[in-house]
Amino acid sequence: VSTSSNHTPTARQPVILTIAGFDPSAGAGIAADLKTFAAHNCYGVAAITALTVQNTQGVAHVYPVQAHELRESLDALFQDGCIAAIKVGMLGDRGNAQVVNEFLGHNGSIPLVIDPVLRSGSGAELLDPGGLEVLKESLLRLATVVTPNLYEAAILTRSKVENLDEMRSAARKLVEMGARAVVVTGGHLEKANDVYHDGTVWETFAGDKLKPENTHGAGCTFSSAIAAQLALGRQLREAVVLAKAYVTEAIRKAFAVGPGRVPLYHLYRMQQAPRTADHNLAVPEAIH
Ligand code: PLP
Repeated sequence: VSTSSNHTPTARQPVILTIAGFDPSAGAGIAADLKTFAAHNCYGVAAITALTVQNTQGVAHVYPVQAHELRESLDALFQDGCIAAIKVGMLGDRGNAQVVNEFLGHNGSIPLVIDPVLRSGSGAELLDPGGLEVLKESLLRLATVVTPNLYEAAILTRSKVENLDEMRSAARKLVEMGARAVVVTGGHLEKANDVYHDGTVWETFAGDKLKPENTHGAGCTFSSAIAAQLALGRQLREAVVLAKAYVTEAIRKAFAVGPGRVPLYHLYRMQQAPRTADHNLAVPEAIH
């Protein structure tokens, strides 16, 4: 009789916390973050800042959670004491931005990636003006790296950011505003080139033109992939390069799950169980 078990012990995975909004269609926000962490062999935990009502066709409503609920979640997760990296995404409103700012101000030594989420690709506001102020005046300074897209970089720096030179100016300004390092992402440019600056080093990471206007949750995924690489012990520059490669591939392998925008395929590296032959996988038309 064999005494060996079928259960192979798994190596312990780093725990990563995402503090972000919930997208029920699972293309962006917390669901995208958790899938990204899983794809990097990391264990994700989450504190929700806001519930959104959305599907592939857009965001209908945003409901920030109560500030005390967010604070209690953060307290509970930190009591376990094993968070290796943190990603901050959508904050929703001033109250929740303040909770996160106070909380992370007291937990300063953990690598922190801030994706300064302001507006969805479909145009919904995801942070109120008071929250933007907290982000600009305090939260930015706590970050290991901040990852704005062109629109976010423009709002944060109150300047036009539409080409590589303007991305470099915005990166410099964000470092002057207190960010330790910045990646301005150019997914909406003709070619998806990103500008990296850490106060000393400048880099431009060249990217291919994929289908970003049709891609939902790319910014969430990029910042989460950086957090995962930092949790795995990589230096920031290498973490950014690897995160860009991961997002590029997840966009390339993306498939439609509804009639609207297409989410990334976060788990493209996973082995798939075979489908049954009669399964109907057609994507429905939009219902008007
Ligand atoms: N919903 C949530 C909860 C998000 O965090 C984000 C982006 O960060 C979005 C929606 C918008 O994603 P996209 O920019 O792809 O529209």
